[in-house]
Amino acid sequence: MSDIRIYEDLDLTTPIGDGIFQIRLPMAGNPLRFVNGYLVEEDDGFTLIDCGWRADDVLDALVEGLRECGTTLECVRRLAITHFHFDHYGLAGTLLRNGVPALLMHPLEWSFLQRIMTDPQAADRRADRWIERNGFYAESTLEDELQHGRTELIRPTREIGDGEHIGRLRAIWTPGHTAGHLCFHDAPSGRLFTGDHVLDPVTPHVGFWFEERGDPLGEYLSSLRKVDRIDAAGVLPAHGEPFADLHRRVAELLVHEESREGRVVEALSRGPADAATIARALPWTRRNRTFEELSEAHRQFAVSETISHLEHLRARGLVERDATANPIRYVRLA
Ligand SMILES: [Zn+2]
Ligand SMILES: [Zn+2]
Repeated sequence: MSDIRIYEDLDLTTPIGDGIFQIRLPMAGNPLRFVNGYLVEEDDGFTLIDCGWRADDVLDALVEGLRECGTTLECVRRLAITHFHFDHYGLAGTLLRNGVPALLMHPLEWSFLQRIMTDPQAADRRADRWIERNGFYAESTLEDELQHGRTELIRPTREIGDGEHIGRLRAIWTPGHTAGHLCFHDAPSGRLFTGDHVLDPVTPHVGFWFEERGDPLGEYLSSLRKVDRIDAAGVLPAHGEPFADLHRRVAELLVHEESREGRVVEALSRGPADAATIARALPWTRRNRTFEELSEAHRQFAVSETISHLEHLRARGLVERDATANPIRYVRLA
């Protein structure tokens, strides 16, 4: 037993079976509470999937978690990242400096990281301006929310694409939550590591922060159908606890997105509107909060999610966008 108590009510580690361990890495001050690092046993040591953000308490929890699992950082032979978000990747640089020899991620995550991390403040200001163009002005900036001190730009030692193998794991490219998001399927146990692609009960955020992104929600829905074709014997998500039935959760998420789309279409049937106006007409979070009840940063996320829905409708020819208007307006086509 550990003498370090990280959580009042939760164990730091849980053995999943088949040489897999869950390590709950703290996200201090965040309602998600923790991100799961998963340790997967290989012939040469361990693969770690996701590592938490860059902070001393996360490194301490990881080292202690490894000890509880009967191993040490020296035995972690590679770190595989599901996606670039700081709660999954932030600590990577620290771990490589502490002797983890390999870092793996999808090439789209690396190219995006290079773009935003050369000047994170400029990237945030750009996202702020984009949300403003869509009808919502925030006093504070996204920068405060994203806390760039908790991540560090570190180059992968290997880029991995769809279908590639990392020991016993097979990478499955699942764009949507981010452009280069990966899930990992473990052939020996049949389990699926889903990162932020499939969570329960949280609904993964599919935002639209930059104009050139295309149709991220369309990608996300395709990626949900893609993992639904896998006969998974258990789901290991990056947040929350492992759960048994992938198909049940995928079906729920598909229904959820469809009903959100119905509400967006309904709001748009009252006449042309910008994304923020539509976001104000929708309920938010599992508790059905109004837009105004959300924190300012979460209102920005809500507008971004609404744009994803509008752009998914536009990609199918159901909605038109007037980008000459300020804010940008969407029009429902008959
Ligand atoms: Zn994420
Ligand atoms: Zn996350």
